[in-house]
Amino acid sequence: MSLSFVSRPLNRSFFFILFLSSFLYAHSDKTIAIIGTGYVGLVSGACLADLGNSVICADTDSRKIDMLRNGIMPIYEAGLSDVVERNFDAGRLLFTDDVANAIAMGDVIFIAVGTPMGDDGSADLSYIDAVVRTIAENILSYKIIVTKSTVPVGTGKKIRAQLEDVYGVDPKLFSIVSNPEFLREGHAVNDFLYPDRLVIGTDSDNALISLCEIYETLITGGTPYVLTDVQTAEMIKHASNSFLAIKISYINEIANLCDATDADVKAVAYAMGLDHRISPAFLNPGPGFGGSCFPKDSQAMVYIAHQNNLPFYTVQAALDANVVQQGKPVEKLINLMQRKANQSLEGKTVAILGLAFKANTDDVRCSPAIATINLLQDRGAIVKAYDPIATNNMCRIFPDIIYCSSPYVAATDADAIIIMTEWDEIKQIDFARIKKLMKQAIVVDARNIINPEVLKQLGFACDAIGQSCLCRSRGEYLRTFVPVHLRKRIPLNKFLVKRD
Ligand code: NAD
Repeated sequence: MSLSFVSRPLNRSFFFILFLSSFLYAHSDKTIAIIGTGYVGLVSGACLADLGNSVICADTDSRKIDMLRNGIMPIYEAGLSDVVERNFDAGRLLFTDDVANAIAMGDVIFIAVGTPMGDDGSADLSYIDAVVRTIAENILSYKIIVTKSTVPVGTGKKIRAQLEDVYGVDPKLFSIVSNPEFLREGHAVNDFLYPDRLVIGTDSDNALISLCEIYETLITGGTPYVLTDVQTAEMIKHASNSFLAIKISYINEIANLCDATDADVKAVAYAMGLDHRISPAFLNPGPGFGGSCFPKDSQAMVYIAHQNNLPFYTVQAALDANVVQQGKPVEKLINLMQRKANQSLEGKTVAILGLAFKANTDDVRCSPAIATINLLQDRGAIVKAYDPIATNNMCRIFPDIIYCSSPYVAATDADAIIIMTEWDEIKQIDFARIKKLMKQAIVVDARNIINPEVLKQLGFACDAIGQSCLCRSRGEYLRTFVPVHLRKRIPLNKFLVKRD
């Protein structure tokens, strides 16, 4: 059977879903086993239980499972503990470190283990391979095997080949589905329960019916869905992440050009985003993209293209630009210190505010703060750091920096501050108080969250990303940008873009 987009009029899948929704008032009676209870596995398991399904979340990490059984969240994610608690108490959500047993009990097996970047840039599928092996060893009845992990196109085919050819599993005993996950850390519960779209790729009618039952509440609630084949579903996820990476690198390069040409990137991005063909999302310049997805998924996309004898110029360029961008906060700090008093970073104390790769998560995987700390240490700086919740995770990467209990403690006796994460708490810092605590008043705002006018008025030397024109002193601004004959006649604020 060949399934395609349900958005096409009158195709087979469209009638199929109409048929389904006519009788789907009960949730799936199938038991779901989630293999891998990390960010995606835990959120998916808890939310699928919240949709009315019976779910067993399994993980080889017994410590994580013990925490969950004791009501302790292994990750920080707003609203997650309530969903977990509610469904755990209702008996719809179980946790186990017995992966084999979870597979034996599950009718639908969601694989949600990590797919990190391999040494050559490919996706390392060894965790997936291990799960496939455990499935093969425990498959006694028909199973629907769903990849929730982000995997390269062709992985579903590979899983089928492994099960049939390597482990000799009867092909009638399983179906393969790709159901990629698009949640964002920091908004994960909301994203799972109210997704922009559901993507289900399979060549099995039976599996498709089961997945539609599992997601019945979302489908009947109006969530757009794409029913397609396994390869296309796999490609949709990688293509989406790579595109977002390109968008971020693009606006970062525009920001750098703004710095060089005295333009304000915030105004540029705002005006670009008003064009509905562009949209305002992912147009915030910053210190480069990080996290557990964009870097590795973009790299994997380039690798897949090369495997198919194709170049992937755009995604490779986004990755290259990102390397450059991750060096910007320190480059800007070096420039500010040289301009101020011809100082180097050697022996200077720098306070990093924000360690998580973005706000509202404790995840530091590939965080731009890592590159910044490395660059500072290479130049002999002493690094102090503050983050509302990501400190413990960063401690594992940098046990040797000074972790502080507040931004004010971090700033005390520091020569400079670099803002690396756009936490609300950091946006609300009292910079008048901070200035009194610091040895020198220097700020690099790598997230563009503090109004440079405020910093300048307080006497800070500052810089941001794509806003150098606003970060210069008032005098310098006038000299540089306002033609002499206009300086007296037109108030300066006419030239400044209104800031949010
Ligand atoms: P994670 O590292 O947080 O979780 C993976 C979990 O799998 C860990 O708890 C690990 O102990 C467990 N595990 C490893 N091998 C196992 C095995 N054989 N049996 C059972 N458990 C095992 O990873 P994550 O961030 O949840 O990502 C999982 C996948 O989802 C990746 O492919 C990722 O690209 C994708 N994804 C992640 C996000 C995100 O925002 N984190 C969003 C969408 C998709």
